[in-house]
Amino acid sequence: MSNALMEQVVSLCKRRGFIFPGSEIYGGLSSSWDYGPLGVELKRNLKQAWWKAAVHLRDDMEGLDSGILMHPSIWRASGHIEGFTDPLVDCKACKKRFREDQLNLSDNGKTKMCPECGQIIDLGQNPPRMFNLMLKTYLGPVEDEGAVTYLRPETAQGIFVNFLNVINTRHRKLPFGVAQIGKSFRNEITPGNFTFRTREFEQMEIEYFVAPEEADVWYRKWIDLRLDWYLELGMKKENLRLREHAKEELAHYAKSCTDIEYQFPFGWSELEGIANRRDFDLKQHAHLSGKDLTYFDQARNLRFLPYVIEPSGGVDRAVLAFVVDAYRQEKVNDGTRVVLGLDKSLAPFKIAVLPLLKKNEKVVALAKKINYVLKNKFMVKYDDTASIGKLYRRQDEIGTLYCVTVDPETLEDNKVTVRDRDTMLQDRVSIESLEKYFQEKGL
Ligand code: ATP
Repeated sequence: MSNALMEQVVSLCKRRGFIFPGSEIYGGLSSSWDYGPLGVELKRNLKQAWWKAAVHLRDDMEGLDSGILMHPSIWRASGHIEGFTDPLVDCKACKKRFREDQLNLSDNGKTKMCPECGQIIDLGQNPPRMFNLMLKTYLGPVEDEGAVTYLRPETAQGIFVNFLNVINTRHRKLPFGVAQIGKSFRNEITPGNFTFRTREFEQMEIEYFVAPEEADVWYRKWIDLRLDWYLELGMKKENLRLREHAKEELAHYAKSCTDIEYQFPFGWSELEGIANRRDFDLKQHAHLSGKDLTYFDQARNLRFLPYVIEPSGGVDRAVLAFVVDAYRQEKVNDGTRVVLGLDKSLAPFKIAVLPLLKKNEKVVALAKKINYVLKNKFMVKYDDTASIGKLYRRQDEIGTLYCVTVDPETLEDNKVTVRDRDTMLQDRVSIESLEKYFQEKGL
């Protein structure tokens, strides 16, 4: 995949209202993005597809929506205050700041150089300083140390601190899981690659609680389940791979971790990680809160802290990967067309209703009526802002599955033309059977 593809995708996202640069009229805010009218629908569809698979279709899952602001002790327990840091080096010459691993090696292979200005950096004289990636804020009117808290850097901890609440209110037995979707914040040193790495982003996380001896089996199961989810939503198999972390790469709490990676135009990169976190989090929270977070297994008359398998994915990264994956250009008679071949559950609009002639009042009135009726069942948009050829191209570019065109003949025979996004084949369908027609297409 080339970077030309990335440029085309970024351009389409802007041009068609999927993703806009954040704070644009003020010159933008570094690596921040806003989801536009099309992007918000796509993102909602993606989250809904995840929620359905993770919560609604499973008997062993519950949902949760915890706060972004939480007790600061939570971040002490989780290790984020101590350990969620990157080593940073300041270049004394150009005054820029870099992660230690981003420094270049000089020709002799021994000394480090500034990647910006080439200045030699002596790490003995100028050692890296640890920089915490959490975004700090103050609660209440006094900005002193006692009021410090953080915007959550992951949604996971909100689940751990509600472990007892969920068990007690839902009478859960192991194994069971809790799912959450929500915003997280990290003061990333090197955000970039469009929406791939930003400082404000959304996560979709599951904490799946199991008996310790069953953790390895569930770890494997969740890797398969999560990979299948991307495939079932139409992501191309050849663009996905699993990468198991080597021992030295593992986070201190993890026993094992596998990333699901996507082949982005800028290289293979993480979409989601599935980790065996052992009992690290519950143990830490039990320790710092003083609360007993053990689980009692009645059948075995045994009390213990469950292990946790965590599939943790990014909403924004998944949206980007699905758009990149679905983007294609095709040769057609009158040139090329761009198609966003999104799966039917993800496409922002399922059906567009278009009048062939926008000056023919009767055609327009009937098209609007069809739009109004179909809206109750499907995600439908009416559009008469251009000629039919242009309207088709626009709908292809935003991934609309079907176009329903109303023409003067419709006024005579009550039939419309239905055009398929992918094949461009057209069916003549009677207005009264449209709903059944689309239901049979799986909408
Ligand atoms: P990376 O190595 O890319 O920084 P990570 O391993 O730190 O990611 P996790 O802490 O495992 O990421 O977070 C789980 C998921 O959250 C990631 O797989 C990714 O999809 C998403 N995510 C994490 N950080 C960001 C970010 N800065 N911007 C967008 N999504 C993110």
